[in-house]
Amino acid sequence: MESFLKPLVVVSRCLGFAKCRTNGETIPNDFIKKLGEYADFITPCPEVEIGLGVPRKSVRIVIQKGCDEKILVQSATNLDCTERMMNFCNSFLSDLGEVDGFILKGQSPSCGIKNVKYYPSTGKVAPIGKGEGLFGGFILKNFPLYPVEDEGRLKNFVIREHFLTRLFLMPKIRRLKKDGKMKDIVKFQSENKLLLMAYNQNLMRKMGKLVANKKDSDVEELKESYIEMFLKAIEKKPKYTSNINVLMHALGYFKSILEMEEKAFFLDSLEMYRKGKVPLSVPIHLVKSYIVKYKEEYLKMQTFFEPYPFDLVDISDSGKGR
Ligand code: SF4
Repeated sequence: MESFLKPLVVVSRCLGFAKCRTNGETIPNDFIKKLGEYADFITPCPEVEIGLGVPRKSVRIVIQKGCDEKILVQSATNLDCTERMMNFCNSFLSDLGEVDGFILKGQSPSCGIKNVKYYPSTGKVAPIGKGEGLFGGFILKNFPLYPVEDEGRLKNFVIREHFLTRLFLMPKIRRLKKDGKMKDIVKFQSENKLLLMAYNQNLMRKMGKLVANKKDSDVEELKESYIEMFLKAIEKKPKYTSNINVLMHALGYFKSILEMEEKAFFLDSLEMYRKGKVPLSVPIHLVKSYIVKYKEEYLKMQTFFEPYPFDLVDISDSGKGR
């Protein structure tokens, strides 16, 4: 398997990079710290960038009655920061260049990507709804097929695994987009065959046909359609039943070599995964041991078996299947 390319990730600055929260504190995050050994970061703090200072009075999103517009207001001063924030968003985007993903601070009226409280006014009133923050919403709108998550959701094992899988594919996709030749697209499709089988069989077949009908195609045009399909294919996390199908397919490569007891042990592990008693990494590890032992070269190159650095596998889970 090819070694991993370093993704470039935009991370909210308060997640362990600086004491820039409203109260002058930071929020250390072990996952992001560990990820830093394998990724590069850009760390904006939108509220500091628009001149609110540290410490500062908190802001909130207000949606006035009969109006759809979201206004970012500093309640204590009644300062409307919406225009400043949108100017910051636009200039951040124009300076940004190529990136691979985003980890933003959850529930913040600026950085949040969901569950941010919306209020009808400033003052002591109950929220009237929830949604995206201004910067978080801007990122979601401008990077629709990118991995974008908040640090709270990343405590969930399945969400984190899906995020990391997409994140570490992004630099390879960028490289393919920049200077990939036809042979590189074919190789990429081949290496990701089982991963695509788990994520989206329908698109996997369409992409297979696209690559197979390559003779008359313009490479740049084909690359564009291929990459868009690929990003759509990996947008939603795979069902556990699809992972089981892929593992059964992989087992087929060893069916005439494995002892009966080995097969039974593997099927037991798969059943435990199906019941949610062990993580996917358990049956995957078994297949990896067969790949090494029997030198199965086609499976060895499959990203499905190690989509991101193994060192980042952490089975801790918030238990909140969000
Ligand atoms: S959530 Fe965003 S705006 Fe708020 S302190 Fe963190 S980085 Fe700054």
